[in-house]
Amino acid sequence: MLNDYDWDFCQIQYNYLDEFSQAGVDGLKAAAAKGIPVIIMEPLRGGKLVDLLPSDAKALIERSGTHWSPAELAFRWLWNQPEVTCVLSGMNSVKMVKENCKAASQAKAGDFTHKHFELIEKVKKSINKTMKVGCTGCAYCMPCPKGVDIPAIFRCYNRMYSEGKSAGRFEYAQTTALQKEETFASRCISCGRCEKHCPQNIKIRRELKRADAELRPLPYKLGIAAARRFMLRSRKKTASCPKKSRQKR
Ligand code: SF4
Ligand code: SF4
Repeated sequence: MLNDYDWDFCQIQYNYLDEFSQAGVDGLKAAAAKGIPVIIMEPLRGGKLVDLLPSDAKALIERSGTHWSPAELAFRWLWNQPEVTCVLSGMNSVKMVKENCKAASQAKAGDFTHKHFELIEKVKKSINKTMKVGCTGCAYCMPCPKGVDIPAIFRCYNRMYSEGKSAGRFEYAQTTALQKEETFASRCISCGRCEKHCPQNIKIRRELKRADAELRPLPYKLGIAAARRFMLRSRKKTASCPKKSRQKR
């Protein structure tokens, strides 16, 4: 996509839990390398990196000696990266605006020390412990010869348990069905190649089966199939209309 158009800027979902999800750190760096400003949305994962942090993750931040709140830690992790142009954040009070402005004016790219990165890793570990599958999204198991998007599937599976069934199922449909090639867990042929590379020793084949069964119950299967048919038809129509498919400036 970056190469398909002369973009003025781009906007991605990015936070320390989504470092390797969607565009992720690779997308951030690729856009910045082309001189495209990158605006960050969901820096707190819809507030989950504040409200839904497990108590031991909160305690880790409190005891870290940084005097940062969970929100400030998440923001500073972003501001530490020179490729980030702007961080969007919903704020509900003047107090929040003041706190965020103060932190933003103090933080600088490249400020993070080994201690800060270690804190982020510990907090991530604590969050991952509460998840259904302890997948960190590192993608060492990829690529799968059948095109199964393993980290994305586990992310959706975990999301189902941490943020509600519909949140996980909606993302699963987006990341697996609404792609050019389907990446459903059911495409797995159990070759076992991925498991040899997983540093977390996850029984990937077994967990994929469980994830697919829960993420795609029958009514969802039917709905997803209909959405996919509609998407492919629309793409076909767009491709056959050269003016619509290539709107270059
Ligand atoms: S076991 Fe399944 S998911 Fe893993 S590499 Fe083989 S086909 Fe892909
Ligand atoms: S290698 Fe393991 S931890 Fe990393 S993305 Fe794959 S399943 Fe998740």
